[in-house]
Amino acid sequence: MPDQVAVNPTIPMQTDTATSEIVVRDPRTGNVLYTLPEPSDVEIERAFQEARQAFAKVRGMSVRERLDETLKLKRFFLDNKEMIVDRVVQETGKARTDALVSEVFTVLDIIDYYDKHAERHLADAKVPTPVILWPKKSKIYYEPIGPVLIISPWNYPLNLAMIPMITAFVAGNSIVFKPSEWTPLKGLIEEIIEKSGFMKGAVKVVYGGKDTGRKLIDQRPAKILFTGSTRAGRQIMEQAAKHLIPVELELGGKDPMVVFDDADIDRTAAGAVWGAMTNSGQTCTSVERLFVHERVYPQFVEALKQKIEKLSHPSRDRGRPDAGDLDVGSMTARFQIEKVEDQVNDAKAKGATVHTGGTRTEDSQDFPPTLITDITDEMKIAHEETFGPVLTVQPFKSEDEAVRLANDSPYGLSASVWSKDIDRATRVARAIETGNVSINNVLATQGNSALPFGGTKESGFGRYKGPHGLHSFSNIKSIMIDSGSKYEPHWFPYTKEKYSLFSKLLDAVYDGGPLWLLKTIQVGMKLEAHVKKNKL
Ligand code: NAD
Repeated sequence: MPDQVAVNPTIPMQTDTATSEIVVRDPRTGNVLYTLPEPSDVEIERAFQEARQAFAKVRGMSVRERLDETLKLKRFFLDNKEMIVDRVVQETGKARTDALVSEVFTVLDIIDYYDKHAERHLADAKVPTPVILWPKKSKIYYEPIGPVLIISPWNYPLNLAMIPMITAFVAGNSIVFKPSEWTPLKGLIEEIIEKSGFMKGAVKVVYGGKDTGRKLIDQRPAKILFTGSTRAGRQIMEQAAKHLIPVELELGGKDPMVVFDDADIDRTAAGAVWGAMTNSGQTCTSVERLFVHERVYPQFVEALKQKIEKLSHPSRDRGRPDAGDLDVGSMTARFQIEKVEDQVNDAKAKGATVHTGGTRTEDSQDFPPTLITDITDEMKIAHEETFGPVLTVQPFKSEDEAVRLANDSPYGLSASVWSKDIDRATRVARAIETGNVSINNVLATQGNSALPFGGTKESGFGRYKGPHGLHSFSNIKSIMIDSGSKYEPHWFPYTKEKYSLFSKLLDAVYDGGPLWLLKTIQVGMKLEAHVKKNKL
């Protein structure tokens, strides 16, 4: 339920990282919520020992049995959604509606999707076997890989814990999970597991910061799914390389939104504002670079300004309770609001125009929704991930220019294209170097659990969710079953005649024209006769 927020402006904001103890604060007030010690080396080792023991059990379960476990989580989420929202809001400072939609809805949806589809995606798959290998049969098995390590950031602390965990578990693995030191949600996942009746031991939560993360990697998990910054992603990949641990990296973004002159201005501007400001802009796929066709640019900027100024935000009404009617919440991490402030000040100093917002409410983690134009290349905000409630807008003249601007970034996570001309929109969607594109919508691809999610370029690689997510936590094992043939022609002994027959076979199969099958059978029979006479 909504709680009245008592603001204490004198208290420094959020986690104190100088000590080995983690101090977790409510970002809305600065008040300390609790502290956590970093785990000892023994505790880290023990977590993996237990995860290995649990793996033996999880891998032995059928996919259906694992799905039934996840349905217990679904029931718990449905019955306890307000408690879950309360916990998430308290540590992140986000708006309640953001918490309900992004941290509860999404988890329920992935459970539902797997419940309906995972058995099929993880079933043994038959694949074609070429005639030359007749009468063999080929299959793919999707098998568990072992205890996996999931490391998450602070912006969606429950979503980015539960969705990877559930995916890894459904694929047959046990999990060691390290939440962000900014939003550990102490005890929440353990409570969800215990009270829902979900399988004991399948998930181990280890609290701690970067050093704990490094120590967990040294325990050699079967795979690491890392969600976080590109900087940390590089470090993790480097460390994982020493042990040859496969990694999947879900990293930062600087997502473009391209608006053509035939788009509905009112709806598209509303989409841009939500896409940029939802979760206070602390979304890896939030709209950070908006490109608008020059013909509609002035009206579009005006529509954005008007809509942004209607948003409710703590900077306009400090300490107000949120009954689900707050649009943009506080920012979660102190270092992040400082980064946003620095980028905005840098842009201002280099000539950008701030149409609304732009100045943080003193002594708070509240950055007002901000609209900026007149962006130039020298500004940090043009290239660096902002990860805050700030939208920059630039005009473009042609489709080619829009694509060039959209691709002018080291990142490639997600994008959106807006036009009534669907052919043009899909052409641009193909031309943008990115992992996800929504057409005439924003951040929409993540809303479908059946669609794989992941990035390109410095936004990382690998895909989770959808069938690809289940397969990314599987050992994809190739099987060939031979229950008919006797001796194989390519086995020893090699003879001159066999060489010549193989040469003819190769021509028949790959260059035999319309009669290739007949020619293949003829040469094949000769080879078989030769093999019968010439055995080892
Ligand atoms: P971060 O990289 O600082 O930290 C993320 C997690 O990694 C934390 O749990 C942290 O303790 C741990 N960590 C950091 N360095 C580590 C190391 N060397 N070894 C082991 N663990 C380490 O990121 P953050 O500030 O928490 O999150 C914000 C970033 O996450 C943004 O760049 C955002 O775009 C990105 N993000 C990406 C996605 C995605 O799906 N692509 C989703 C959400 C957030």
